[in-house]
Amino acid sequence: EAESKRRSMIIGEDGRVYISYPESDTFWQSFVSMKVEEGFLQTLAELTEKAGQWQTRDVQYQDEKLLITASLIESYHFYIVSGIQSADLLSRWFERMKFVALAVFIFLVAGLFVFRIIITRASRFESARNVAEHNVFKLSRAIEQSPSSVIVTDEKWLIEYANDRLSDGAEASIKLIPGQMLLEHFPHTLLKDDVAAVSENLLHGNNWYGERRAREQKQWFSYSISAMTDDDGKISNYVIVTQDITERKQVEVRLYKQANFDALTGLPNRRRTSELLNENLKSAWQKNQRVAILYMDVDNFKQVNDTFGHILGDQMLQLVAVRLQKAVSDQGVACHMSGDEFLVSMLFDGKDDITALADDIMTVMREPVLLEGKKLFISVSIGIACYPEDSADVSSLLKHADIALYESKNRGRRCYSFFSSELDDKNKRKIELESEVRNALANNELFMVYQTKNKISSGEVYGFEALMRWESPRLGFVSPEEFISAAEEIGVIDKLGEFALYEACRDLQKFQNLVSQPLAMAVNVSMYQLTNSDIVGTVQKVIKDTGINPSVLELEITESMLAQRLEEVQPVLNSLLALGVSLSIDDFGTGYSSLSYLTRFPVSALKIDRCFITDMVDNRSDATLTHTVITMAHKLGLKVVAEGIEDEDQLALLRVYGCDLGQGYLFTKPLNYEQMTGHLKSQQETPDWAI
Ligand code: C2E
Ligand code: MG
Ligand code: MG
Repeated sequence: EAESKRRSMIIGEDGRVYISYPESDTFWQSFVSMKVEEGFLQTLAELTEKAGQWQTRDVQYQDEKLLITASLIESYHFYIVSGIQSADLLSRWFERMKFVALAVFIFLVAGLFVFRIIITRASRFESARNVAEHNVFKLSRAIEQSPSSVIVTDEKWLIEYANDRLSDGAEASIKLIPGQMLLEHFPHTLLKDDVAAVSENLLHGNNWYGERRAREQKQWFSYSISAMTDDDGKISNYVIVTQDITERKQVEVRLYKQANFDALTGLPNRRRTSELLNENLKSAWQKNQRVAILYMDVDNFKQVNDTFGHILGDQMLQLVAVRLQKAVSDQGVACHMSGDEFLVSMLFDGKDDITALADDIMTVMREPVLLEGKKLFISVSIGIACYPEDSADVSSLLKHADIALYESKNRGRRCYSFFSSELDDKNKRKIELESEVRNALANNELFMVYQTKNKISSGEVYGFEALMRWESPRLGFVSPEEFISAAEEIGVIDKLGEFALYEACRDLQKFQNLVSQPLAMAVNVSMYQLTNSDIVGTVQKVIKDTGINPSVLELEITESMLAQRLEEVQPVLNSLLALGVSLSIDDFGTGYSSLSYLTRFPVSALKIDRCFITDMVDNRSDATLTHTVITMAHKLGLKVVAEGIEDEDQLALLRVYGCDLGQGYLFTKPLNYEQMTGHLKSQQETPDWAI
């Protein structure tokens, strides 16, 4: 009854309202004073047909929709009705339900929250699962499509999985069937000898990598093997990644060849040679062996290159390499150091082994070769140094062999020389000389001496030969042969030559003032000056500056040099002649010794080398040769000068042979300017050689 909005009433069977609670102005009040409508009463009667039972029903009363519960109290003939407007019922229900709704709402929110968490977790789990699945998918695709062969075997090498990526080299793929023994299948057969090493490695937790070559197929494979372990840490599977690395190997081989072998000759190059020599010396040291290196140089190669061009020069080098290898065969290793330099390294017991090989090399090289229709003769010069006697390390061994090679070249090429401590001293001296001679001129250490050339018939002074002298404060007196070749070597000879020409021409004019007869001056000119300097310009300048008559100036050129480079110097000689100077051949007999070629030189005099004159009196053949040379030279219209006349007998014989001029200690030793001045003055008075 306390329920709000609900009204309870007692209504008589006649429809009169007896009690209505609560009292109010609402629509329910009408029931108290009035009877309920017949229709409502009818409804009550229907609703309470069964007396004593409560029934509930929606009824329409006037404009209102009501929900009523009614029961008939039979003994009092009235109905007890409890009703509520449907609209109120709803709001009341809502009222009631407020807390429930709140609780439900809270529950729902909490539920939603929990749901969200669950959903998030689930989706996270799902996406992680997706990623994992995707990764597994990708991984398996990667393995399947990998260019490498990936194989999984069990711990007994029985195949469990293979991605069929192996090719036999002829584009056919190698099928590996699960269950088969991996090591029975090519190319894994190549690993048979490695199984123990592989297992050992894997047991220690390391991967194993190896590269093997299938010889017949010329194929290369790389193998990378790792182990998979089970939960107990025991090896359960092997994973073998195999690759065909043939192409890579081919490139590597090519790169190795490029770096270590000479492209032209295919022989080991300088880099590789130095490695080889280091290896050789090391093993020789361990085994107590001896190693010889033969350093060689092709004689006059530059000339061949310049004359025939680089292509033929290269062909010649290839030929030299082939011949060298033929000679060396298995006695040693032939290498190509650079340009025309080759090297052979060999083990030896006695020096005979080395000379035998050196002789063989000389012999095979000697065979003439046809280049552009011309028959050429190849020769080599060889320098030999030995381990351990000459040195114990590669670089000094090479240096020593080079010194010996230099000696061979000095000895006239096409020969071999062994390194020796004397050679070493000579070389050190040479290096010293080269560094000192450079400044000799600037330091006023050079001066000229003069030796007279006298007429054989009368003994009268005909002229002079100018000879250079060097008094070095550090090295003392150095012979002209020594310092002139050093000056040639370092390229200062043209400066020295210019000095000689100026001094000689100036001094000649002074000497000329002392005597009545006309005098001539001969100046030595080295081959280097003829080929590498502007000798023509220099001579021209000297003539102009000193005002000398060119006809009194004679240039002496050594015969051996001239013969070697005839073609090259001929135009230079002609230009010199055009200046009005004369030319003579010095040291005749020590070089080509062929008189016929003299016709091709525009020379006016020939100087017979001292060595023929020295023994002429006692040695018939020297005498005959001298006589013949004089006769033939005269036929060619050349004047003949005999060098190194030291005694009267020689002079007498030369007079018999009709030699024109003579030079030697018998007349004068080489004298400096002052001495020569004194000599000339005294000569004017009483010549001491006069008969
Ligand atoms: P060369 O032109 O044949 O000079 C003759 C050499 O024989 C000189 O030696 C001279 O001192 C020596 N001599 C002369 N008469 C006798 C003798 O009776 N007995 C002996 N035993 N020797 C005699 P030197 O001065 O030592 O010169 C050696 C070589 O050095 C010269 O040979 C020449 O080729 C070269 N030379 C000297 N001065 C010059 C120069 O200014 N320029 C060039 N390019 N070479 C020079
Ligand atoms: Mg001379
Ligand atoms: Mg001479």
